Amino acid sequence: MPFVIYSERLAQESAKQYAYRILRRNILLLDMKPGEAIVEKDISAKLRLSRTPVREALLDLCRERLVEIYPQRGTRVALMDARLVDQGRFLRETVELALLELACKSFTEEHLAKLEANLAEQEHEVEQGDLINFFFKDNEFHRILFASCNKDTVFDAISFYMPHFTRERMLRLQMFNPSELIRDHRNIMTAIKAGDCRTAKMHLSEHLDHVMCDQQILLEGYPEYFIREEHS
Ligand SMILES: [Zn+2]
Repeated sequence: MPFVIYSERLAQESAKQYAYRILRRNILLLDMKPGEAIVEKDISAKLRLSRTPVREALLDLCRERLVEIYPQRGTRVALMDARLVDQGRFLRETVELALLELACKSFTEEHLAKLEANLAEQEHEVEQGDLINFFFKDNEFHRILFASCNKDTVFDAISFYMPHFTRERMLRLQMFNPSELIRDHRNIMTAIKAGDCRTAKMHLSEHLDHVMCDQQILLEGYPEYFIREEHS
């Protein structure tokens, strides 16, 4: 079972919070693959924790539909659910389009400079072939937009509630070059700079659409990762 310990336990973190943070990150970044078995005692050993906090963390992840626990058959990483991916995208688009209305009115030179710097970092990560860091820089781009309107905690909150959309974004990065995502970011930024809210919104919708448009290719490339639709 590939399992990455991204960082040591933080000073203020309880054992359960530490297990939860590391497990959730492994699942979202696809280090732990959809459908993969989770062996509680192996996780406990690797994290050097007792089994209770690991079990409690798994229960929390089960409530978030990232883990499935079967009394007889064991525990596994939840398969990706196209319905939940779609709902995550809906949440993100609905809120972020409203955010752009505010951003187009209140964006300052300072915010633009932050976006420019972030875009340069995105390009650097792609040149280095570091898709994980690119993924974080992509998130940061959008967080800067929210923060520019004093809505940064809104971005954090909605990001939390779309883990299946997040996993699909990660999967897409493994199959497609992210240069078109950078182009979208630049288009969004240029439209905001011009105060052209309609164009900014159009580019944002296109940006979030990439994942959905390519879903069929992802389903064909990784059928074992997805819940199969039942057709009667
Ligand atoms: Zn983006």
